[in-house]
Amino acid sequence: MGVKLREPLVRPVWPPKGYAKRVEVTEDDDWWILSAVHGRTDPWDLIVFNFGTRNPDEVNWCLHHILGCRRKSKDGKNYDFGAPCTIRQYIYIPPAGWKPPTTADDDAWERVRSTINSATVKTLNLSLFAYKLSISGHDFGKIGYLLNTKRITAKLDPTHLHAAEYLPGSDQIIIKLLPSDPIDRSHIVHEAVHASFDYRHSFGVRSYQLDEECFAYVVQMLYLQKFYGGTWPSGWSHEFEAKATWQAAWKVANAVRGPDPVHPDLTDALMTAYKASNAGNGVGLLDRPGHNGIR
Ligand SMILES: [Zn+2]
Repeated sequence: MGVKLREPLVRPVWPPKGYAKRVEVTEDDDWWILSAVHGRTDPWDLIVFNFGTRNPDEVNWCLHHILGCRRKSKDGKNYDFGAPCTIRQYIYIPPAGWKPPTTADDDAWERVRSTINSATVKTLNLSLFAYKLSISGHDFGKIGYLLNTKRITAKLDPTHLHAAEYLPGSDQIIIKLLPSDPIDRSHIVHEAVHASFDYRHSFGVRSYQLDEECFAYVVQMLYLQKFYGGTWPSGWSHEFEAKATWQAAWKVANAVRGPDPVHPDLTDALMTAYKASNAGNGVGLLDRPGHNGIR
């Protein structure tokens, strides 16, 4: 009887990001023992953390190709840890608070990656002298690829404080709700701008938090103007979070699309509006956004 193998559609990031501990495994170990020793009630938590899949054939593929397993289980249907194997075998233990992605997180990932891989996003280009930052469709293409390969992941969190947030430490985009209109999707575009600077950190690109935030708002407004044109939509007369920032960024976006260079008054006004908002309150002129690259 043979072991069935299937290559995962998305290859796992190896070693997995954010692991708490690396442990060597031998023929005395299995997933059940490992999870009991490391305080997990469900062995699948460990499997999903290491290999990113719940499909047994894909798990066997990972055991064979990543861990070098050649030792078969008694029934011959799966691989086991230990000799014979091609390399020393290590399994990674997640931090205590780590939870496996839910189907809602999978939906979030699907929506985030389809948004960033859309034709509309690929046409976004912006270079702003005032903030000394730029982004192109090519940069968004790279972020789309990192999403497709789960180097950047997504999470749905209805209790999250903001509509969306990019976490540079875990390379994750959190969204509060599944997007249904251009406004929801524009929040994802905004966070993808932060992700792009996190990615480009590895290539020596540096930014200040204030500049990057203002820049991300302008890109977000450029995206929205692809749907709504240059006139501030009449439906947006109500109050909402960071409205003054949006309005100032909207004016910059309009100026960007115009024939003349963007007047510094407009980019200064955006900076002032952002600093006066809840999000920008207390952000210092020389604060950095905490980027550390994406692997
Ligand atoms: Zn932001």
